[in-house]
Order: sequence, then structure tokens, then C-alpha cells
Amino acid sequence: MQPEELRRIDNEALWHPFTQMRGHREENVPLIESGDGFYLIDVEGRRYLDGVSSLWCNVHGHRVPELDRAVRDQLDKIAHSTLLGLGSVPSIELAAELVKRTPDALTKVFYSDSGSTAVEIALKMAFQYHNQKPNPDAQTRDLFACMQHAYHGDTIGSVSVGGISIFHEIFGKLLFHSVQMPCPAAYHRPEGMTEAEYLEHCYQELERLLAENHERLAAFVIEPLVQGAAGMLMHPPGYLQRVRELTTQYGIPLIADEVAVGLGRTGTMFACEQEGVTPDFLCLAKGITGGYLPLAVTMTTDEIAAAFEGEHTDYNAFYHGHTYTGNALACAAALATLELFDSQNTLENVKANEQILAERLAELKDHPHVGEVRHKGTMVGIELVANRETREAFPADRRMGHQVTLAAREQGVIIRPLSDVVILMPAPGMPGEQVHQLCDVVFAAIDKAI
Ligand code: PLP
Repeated sequence: MQPEELRRIDNEALWHPFTQMRGHREENVPLIESGDGFYLIDVEGRRYLDGVSSLWCNVHGHRVPELDRAVRDQLDKIAHSTLLGLGSVPSIELAAELVKRTPDALTKVFYSDSGSTAVEIALKMAFQYHNQKPNPDAQTRDLFACMQHAYHGDTIGSVSVGGISIFHEIFGKLLFHSVQMPCPAAYHRPEGMTEAEYLEHCYQELERLLAENHERLAAFVIEPLVQGAAGMLMHPPGYLQRVRELTTQYGIPLIADEVAVGLGRTGTMFACEQEGVTPDFLCLAKGITGGYLPLAVTMTTDEIAAAFEGEHTDYNAFYHGHTYTGNALACAAALATLELFDSQNTLENVKANEQILAERLAELKDHPHVGEVRHKGTMVGIELVANRETREAFPADRRMGHQVTLAAREQGVIIRPLSDVVILMPAPGMPGEQVHQLCDVVFAAIDKAI
């Protein structure tokens, strides 16, 4: 098909996710046809640096020979077979690899196909676990603890434990109740509070809300260290550890949603490692296949899994599963992705890029329209504001984040903002000079857009 025909159909027949389609039609977005390393190439042959890892999932680049080969080799065997009543070789090999690479207590691997389902599964497992564990509680645990502003996906369960207000405004009547902890990222603290006072308040609220609700809490779900889709809101060191201490004290399973922060993004393979925390559930998706194919993982412990053992007539199996659970091509891509972390020293590359980003982001220190720069590993949020001193936001209709995105795209870099927070998320394997290119273009785009 010719580019014009592709565009016509894209505008008429495709409904893009999280997208106001009227704006989309007016915008002539690039139509991507191929990839080359960390670049995307559109149908007109224009090359764009993939500055947000294709929505935070690409790890080692596009068209990576080792990944391409792993998928092709698997294709020569079989593309898919079900995990209901059958096993499959790559899903078994990947489970072994995941158990080896995660904390010792995480021994069980349940597959699905998106970050949202990885979290949904953890929620359902935690709920069912409490009803089936030895010596069940007197009170049903029908509440979940979660973080203000959190994003855990877009299914009804994952939205229920999320804190993105527009989703709650639209779907509120379909959602179940959750107990939200104030987010300990001090930039958005209430007027008149110092950072230290705000953090103190967050810790006190965490303790109070858990003390008040612990008997009804089925689990506590958290994005460890960085709340990504909230605009890269960073928790202070020690917060995750405190959450683990309190959840252990009250017997509340901890769900670590590492869909965004896992697979090297924060500088370690898993973010929980940085606080020495072992969760009861670990959710992975996005980067697990290097950004090649949809696959997600919910890992848990022997103790949780034991509550689902029994006779057929006990009807206590985990009642959840998808047609494509544990897809063979995706598992083969995931195995090759993990091997590349070792053979390419990808975590070392993340550390080098973290340093480059720290140095380059310092250039924005005194920028009159940059309220805060948040940065960990290769995750960056640059908060644009009308007034740096008062932290006053730009009027929503100026769509500053979007304007920066358009200006960067003109210069051959793809990014995607979260409101007025400009997000940079170079893939863990991106070479340093491309990280510099990303900064050069985006910093210039910020000035151009403002
Ligand atoms: N959890 C976190 C922390 C995420 O950042 C996301 C997506 O951005 C999800 C869950 C949902 O993942 P998916 O879009 O694959 O459903």
C-alpha cells in the first residue's frame, strides 16, 4: 500500500489506544514500517530515534540479530500451544530462568500477556489465597492498598488499584474499593508544607491506613521506587523497605509491579533489589521480551501457591488463564532477551547512561520552565511549569508536553509525554552517543515549544 492509502485507512479504520482520534487525524503521525537498532523508520523512509523505548518496552533495540534468530528458530518448531492441559518447552525454560534470576522466595511463574493482566492476576491470586490459606481470617479481605497516582494498567482490577483520576471519574462505578497511600514524591505536596513535613505526613499516613485497615487488606500493590505513568514520581530511599516491614508485620502480601521499572530500567535488574526487598508477588511485562512480543509474568511464593493445591473436587485451583498464556514465540524472545543482558553487560550500559543523563540533565537546572527533573537509571521525567518559583502549571490547553513531542519529532526523535512531564526512556541497551542525541534534541525542543 502507498503511504497516502495507509494514512487514509489509519485515520478511518483504526482506533488508537488512549488517543483522541480527532487530534490524531489532524496530526499526520509517522507510520512506522521498520526498525534499525534504536531507530524507527517510517513509510517515507524517515528515521527517528526511539526515545521512549516504544512505550517503555524495547530493551536491546529493534531487529536485534539474537532476538530475531530466537523467534525464527522457535517459529520453525511451533508458534503456540496451550498451557491448559499441556506443557511447552520455551515456557518451562523461561520459568527456570526467571526463578534463577529473582529472589529465592519467588518460585512460581504464572504467564499472561500484558502488564495489566500481570497485576490483575496478582490481585486475584491474593484475594483467592486469603480465602483458601490454612486458618483463614475471620474477616474477608476485600480491600487493596495502593499508591495515590499509581498506574497498574487499564483493566477494571488494575484501574481499581490505580490512582489516575480521569480513569476513576469515567469508570468509577465499575471499580472496587482501595485504600490509597499518599505518594511520597514531594514536588506535588500541598501548599505551605515543606518537603520534610510532607514526607513525615506520608509515612504517618502509611502507618495509620495500614493499622486501620489491615484486617481487610488482601494485598498492597506498589510500583517500586518510581511511579512511572504518574510522571516519573520517585519515592525517597527507604520507603519501599518501610512498606515491606509494615506489610510483613500485618501479614499483607506485597505485590511489586515491576512492569515499568523491571528489566534494568532503574540500574538493577529489578528495582526491589535496591532496597533489599522480596515481594510476595512480582509482576513483569513490557521489557521481558525485549519489546518484541506480548508476554507478562506474575511470580509468587511457595506459600501462596500452596493454598491452591488440593483435589479436583476441592475447586481451589486458580481460576484464571488466557488462550495465549505462555506463548512459545514470546517465551523464546524472553529467553534470548535475558541472555543478552548477560552477554552485552546491559546493566553496565544502564549505569553508564545513567551517568550521561545525570550530567546532561544538570543543564536544565536553572531553566525557568523546568520545575523539577526526576531521574533514576534510564527513567527521566522533566516537569514543565509556567513558573518555576511558584510551581504553577501551564494552562492545560497549551499542551506543552505535546508541543515538545512535536518539536522533537521534527528533529527525528520520538518521545511521548505524560501531560506536561516530558519523558525520556532510552532503552537499557542504547549506546551513549544516542542518549546524547536524545538530550540534544529534546532540550532544544523544550526551548522551541515554550
Ligand atoms: N504497570 C505499570 C507500572 C505500567 O507502567 C504499565 C504500563 O505502562 C502497566 C502496568 C500496564 O502494562 P500494559 O500496558 O502492558 O497492560
